[in-house]
Amino acid sequence: MPARMAHRVAGLGTTIFSEINDLAAQYKAVNLGQGRPDFDGPRVVIDAAVAAMQDGRANQYPPGLGIAPLRQGIAAHVQDFYGLEINSETGVVVTSGAAEGVYAAIMALVNPGDEVILIEPFFDTYLPAVQWAGGVPVYVPLHPPAWTFNVDELRAAFTERTRAIILNTPHNPTGRVFTRDELAMIAALCLEHDVMVISDEVYEHLTYDLAKHIPMASLPYMFERTLTVSSAAKTFSLTGWKIGWVYGPDTLVTGVWRVHQNVTYALNHPRQYGITEALNLDAEYYIDLQAMYTHKRDLLLAGLRAAGLIADAPQGSFYVMADFSRVFDGDDVDFTRFLIREIGVACIPPSTFFSDDHKHLTRSHVRFAFCKEDAVLEQAVERLAKLSLRV
Ligand code: PMP
Repeated sequence: MPARMAHRVAGLGTTIFSEINDLAAQYKAVNLGQGRPDFDGPRVVIDAAVAAMQDGRANQYPPGLGIAPLRQGIAAHVQDFYGLEINSETGVVVTSGAAEGVYAAIMALVNPGDEVILIEPFFDTYLPAVQWAGGVPVYVPLHPPAWTFNVDELRAAFTERTRAIILNTPHNPTGRVFTRDELAMIAALCLEHDVMVISDEVYEHLTYDLAKHIPMASLPYMFERTLTVSSAAKTFSLTGWKIGWVYGPDTLVTGVWRVHQNVTYALNHPRQYGITEALNLDAEYYIDLQAMYTHKRDLLLAGLRAAGLIADAPQGSFYVMADFSRVFDGDDVDFTRFLIREIGVACIPPSTFFSDDHKHLTRSHVRFAFCKEDAVLEQAVERLAKLSLRV
């Protein structure tokens, strides 16, 4: 018998990120594809992790839930920024990045046959996890150019079988930050239909201009039915560390803990000391982070617009969605390949974040990441200028 894999993985190909990275490397393109900063996180944070290794504090298994000072730091952070009270002993689990957090939350909530609402475009790991849990995905698209949901489409997605909705705000890839009104609309439907929320808030500190991140858990009656997932990756420019967390009401968090305990059990110990230090950084850190990213966003936006692309300023995250229909005739995957090969800039085709029925909504858009050194963004802008000749 030839070796064969299980059905649950047989249909999954390599992710679009690896395909783009490979192509970008082959053509030496400026890579604005993956959301991976090309600069380091704060030195004090790195030093704290190194010290915890060198003095022997953190070279063995840590507690499975995460070290106590980190859990206390997460609780204090959520209290300081959003006024939410979480129990650092029973209401938070440290996970291997937000990626494991979302996976564990889905496994902890979804029974076979349960419907799970996914707002499109959605981060690519959500769907396999829903399917592995035996859940049935129900899609609600955000519509361009404002990337808002249609209220009737949202309402129609809620049925007596709906178990959970997965939200992401600030949103990858559109850069939307959901308003209080939008969140309240979703919350009202969740309360009416007794639906739980998995809220992926990894970009919580990356908001621009007047946009303000509002955690779903901070809306009235929503804490009790929301698992909030976040991560140190984007806030502290340490995507390689893979330290994330899930917080919420004790019962739901206990479910997450049971999944976590049987998958990874515990996380890299020294880095937990590092992130404990990161959560102690003062308010200025977050102000500087936003100022840095506002500058990078504006640099890229000006370049994209000068090149003939149509792009609104994102309110959050570190991505810009740009409409290329004035400079290229084809879909987003064609344009991405063209841009890498002919122009020397890599981006991501967002149709991979949509179900087949809704891919057309993003046929003429691509996503650019601006979490890069200014010199890299400037080089990309210089190369993109060649596109303007096509307008
Ligand atoms: N959710 C979203 C929306 C993301 O964009 C990412 C990372 N790109 C993740 C989750 C994964 O985060 P982590 O690296 O902390 O696992």
